[in-house]
Amino acid sequence: MKDKAIRGIAADKQIRFFAVNSTQTVQTALQSHFLSVTSTIFLGRMISAGIMLGMDLKDEKSSITLKVNSDGPLEGATVVCKNRGKTKGYVKNPQVELEAESTLYGLSIAKAVGNGTMTIIKDLNVKQPFSGQVELISGEIAEDLAFYFVQSEQVPSAVGLGLLVNPDASVKSSGGFIVQLMPFAQEDVIAKLEDNVNKMPNISDLLDMGKDIETIVRDFVLKGFDLAVTDELEPSFSCDCSKEKFWDGVKLLGLVEIQGALLHEGKLEANCHFCNKTYTYDEVDLFKMIEEIKNTK
Ligand SMILES: [Zn+2]
Repeated sequence: MKDKAIRGIAADKQIRFFAVNSTQTVQTALQSHFLSVTSTIFLGRMISAGIMLGMDLKDEKSSITLKVNSDGPLEGATVVCKNRGKTKGYVKNPQVELEAESTLYGLSIAKAVGNGTMTIIKDLNVKQPFSGQVELISGEIAEDLAFYFVQSEQVPSAVGLGLLVNPDASVKSSGGFIVQLMPFAQEDVIAKLEDNVNKMPNISDLLDMGKDIETIVRDFVLKGFDLAVTDELEPSFSCDCSKEKFWDGVKLLGLVEIQGALLHEGKLEANCHFCNKTYTYDEVDLFKMIEEIKNTK
């Protein structure tokens, strides 16, 4: 099944929702970064959340950054999303493996994440980016994101994020949902939504049964509500880096360093944090860089 993200409204616009099947996207992230199972669960939940947050963006130049900084062995992760589901991201310590504890809501990663903060930066390509931050209250990401919405944006929200791993450590299923209540939401709508969310199975289990993301929203998250899907897209793990983009960054190493590399190794390498691609600058490139630096002096 292809990955899919949807957004929409329900109950006469009293509820807005986002939902995503991010299985392939997270599998690509796993392969790019050689993620451990623990960091796959961590980054996978962050990616699902990021894709949904990104659906609010209006144009290609806007982006949303979801960042966790923490004191556990994983130390944190960063995910950046663009408006049409294009996502990139990394875990600070991608090889950390901690025995994940099974809980009612799936595997727990709170111990590996530790205490810290969750930050969201919205760059809407106008004026200053907007940013908000909260303390982590659980370290499982979904609860932390729901807390963020209440604290930073005063929007009561429920968030579900799930991920299942195959015995060979590949991603079996990954996805999530966000439901938000508008200020004029009525009591009975709120109560019914709470009941739905409390009763529903883990979203990754439902995806693993082969259920489409829209069916999951209709039959579980928003069961009994009339709803309309207003947008749909196919997310992907994709980075916008290139050898050209890193060129100026490599030049910042300075004349001495570049000349040294030319003399000793005959090349320089730059690694992209977000997708783990490595770009090599050979002798011809380094000569060109040296010329460029000299010419700007
Ligand atoms: Zn990259």
